[in-house]
Amino acid sequence: MTGTSVIEVDRSALIHNLNFIQHHLGEDVKVSSVIKANAYGHGIEQVVPVAESAGINHFSVFSADEAQRVYKVKKKQTDVMIMGWVSDEALEWAIKNSVEFYVFEYAKLEKAQEIAEKLNKKAIIHIEVETGMNRTGFIQKDLKKAVNLIKKHRECFVVKGLCTHYAGAESIANHVRIQKQIKKYNQIYKWIVKEGVIPELRHTACSAAAMAYPRTRMDMVRIGILQYGFWPTRETFIQYISKQMDKADPLQRVISWKSQVMSIKKVKTGEFVSYGTAYLANEDKAIAIVPVGYSHGYSRSLSNTGRVLIDGQRAPVIGVVNMNMLIVDVSTIPDVKRGDEVVLIGTQNGLVITLASFADFNNQLNYELLARLPINIPRKVTN
Ligand SMILES: *Cc1c(COP(=O)(O)O)cnc(C)c1O
Repeated sequence: MTGTSVIEVDRSALIHNLNFIQHHLGEDVKVSSVIKANAYGHGIEQVVPVAESAGINHFSVFSADEAQRVYKVKKKQTDVMIMGWVSDEALEWAIKNSVEFYVFEYAKLEKAQEIAEKLNKKAIIHIEVETGMNRTGFIQKDLKKAVNLIKKHRECFVVKGLCTHYAGAESIANHVRIQKQIKKYNQIYKWIVKEGVIPELRHTACSAAAMAYPRTRMDMVRIGILQYGFWPTRETFIQYISKQMDKADPLQRVISWKSQVMSIKKVKTGEFVSYGTAYLANEDKAIAIVPVGYSHGYSRSLSNTGRVLIDGQRAPVIGVVNMNMLIVDVSTIPDVKRGDEVVLIGTQNGLVITLASFADFNNQLNYELLARLPINIPRKVTN
């Protein structure tokens, strides 16, 4: 290992999760695999072929640069959809290569029309509509303008989808807001069809909505976090499991993240460890230094709270997480040596570190921790 850590992607776990999702939602619902943020840290190049082997033929990314990475590794027939940022230059690339993209700005739609006309190639668009999140999406007035432009230049567009995004389907606290959004979306869908613009796919649901609100599944769902083996929130998991006979979690963690012990030393009672006063040794301690810190994506919020596995035992992260290192209390693990494997996420000797085990207080940390795993950590597909 020349780098300080390695990320492993478990092929059979990813396939298992995708099969579970497809089976749970039913064969009539198309699953778009969301692989923005470098496939939630798992690696776009690693995830795409495995997901394809599980029958996925549609991927969603946030930006055109991610779409270009997918484009290089995907099968010919597989579709890619950009849900967010496409610069004007990238727009030409997208249209030329039949890459699908969201439109939520009239100016972008006009630009797409011009390019499509110039290339004599249809732009494959998903019309995003505002239903209550107040982020991207056409408001009614602009939607009318957009629909008029599309009707005037039918030869320039394939209207592949009509879409929206829910403002927090992972929490029951947002129930009323979500119901309003569903209603609004359905009204807009009826209206646009009456206008004679008929989207091929209605899609609104992320993982949480797809699990908690069956009405949001429609023709296609955009599944991110679930396929990687994590529930959007504990609430979503409990809601699912409460209706099942089998109470075991049906999902399997796909990612493992491993490093090794770089250095070991003893610390005397009364000494502080690492920067400042965050950790005071209340007895004589043995500590191990691991060459992974917040610059490698190990969140500072895990200072004094994270756990790792060394020599088949659990060991607590002590003191603040540094930029390139973290420090672990190995006082109860007598034989630790330099070079011993350190599991940051994953399994060792039957013990498991999931993300949620240190993120119980806040499931958003799952998303954030995964998404911030740097692109330059080597990824390896296992199994
Ligand atoms: C990220 C994202 C998703 C997927 O969300 P998960 O909670 O990971 O399933 C779906 N739709 C949009 C627009 C997104 O940005």
